[in-house]
Amino acid sequence: MSPSGTKRPLVLSAVQTGITNCNRCPRLRTYCQDVGRVKRAAYRQDTYWARPVPGFGDPAARILVLGLAPAAHGANRTGRVFTGDGAGGSGDFLVSALQRAGFANRSTSQRADDGLQLTDVYIAAAVRCAPPANRPLPEEVDRCLAHLLDEVAALPKLEVVIALGKIAWDAWMKLLVQQGVALPRPRPVFSHGAVLHLGTLAPGHPGTLAPGHPGTLAPWHPGTLVGMYHPSRQNTNTGTVTPAMYDAVLRKVRSRISG
Ligand code: SF4
Repeated sequence: MSPSGTKRPLVLSAVQTGITNCNRCPRLRTYCQDVGRVKRAAYRQDTYWARPVPGFGDPAARILVLGLAPAAHGANRTGRVFTGDGAGGSGDFLVSALQRAGFANRSTSQRADDGLQLTDVYIAAAVRCAPPANRPLPEEVDRCLAHLLDEVAALPKLEVVIALGKIAWDAWMKLLVQQGVALPRPRPVFSHGAVLHLGTLAPGHPGTLAPGHPGTLAPWHPGTLVGMYHPSRQNTNTGTVTPAMYDAVLRKVRSRISG
């Protein structure tokens, strides 16, 4: 997936700063700020981040874990993706699975200053601002893909994308189509454990840059897409998703990455 021919490689920290300062979706920006002002009673003493949330993890990651969007009182509060949505919430479920698989140094994700380090994994979301009712509008997902494209361009070693749920899966598909990747027909649908190996583009494919983008993208290698159910409480509390199911998919992913 590496855009190895990039003439001016994107610097991950600059991409993350650009995401943090984005204001392209007035509905979402207003909602995030309102949530941060009103707060949940349990977090009354906290200063909410209330800004777009960039990805987090290893700049040399070969695996991108792609979620849906920040939680209103989770990442929108802490400023770190999949962080702070309560003990046993989606962040803890995901990070504990990453730790069991050897990709994380701890099993919980409640605070941005907790020392969590990811190895070979970078976590991002399809939409970087918390949406009302966890439901971004299609045009908001589309708009935010430019940030995902930039982040991917700044992660030169990516090989595998794990889509946490259908929205993340579809968002990645859309990004691939935007990059000129020919997808199989019928279009592969999301399921837990689905693995989609995608061919490489012809050398010299220019890729697509977001408006105002300073760099030049490279030939695109779309890599492998893997589906995994979202670790929402709705899924984990009902047994729709279990730790064993996550462990099995992560074993599959580890077997796919080179080296
Ligand atoms: S959702 Fe994405 S594109 Fe929209 S304001 Fe937030 S960061 Fe910007």
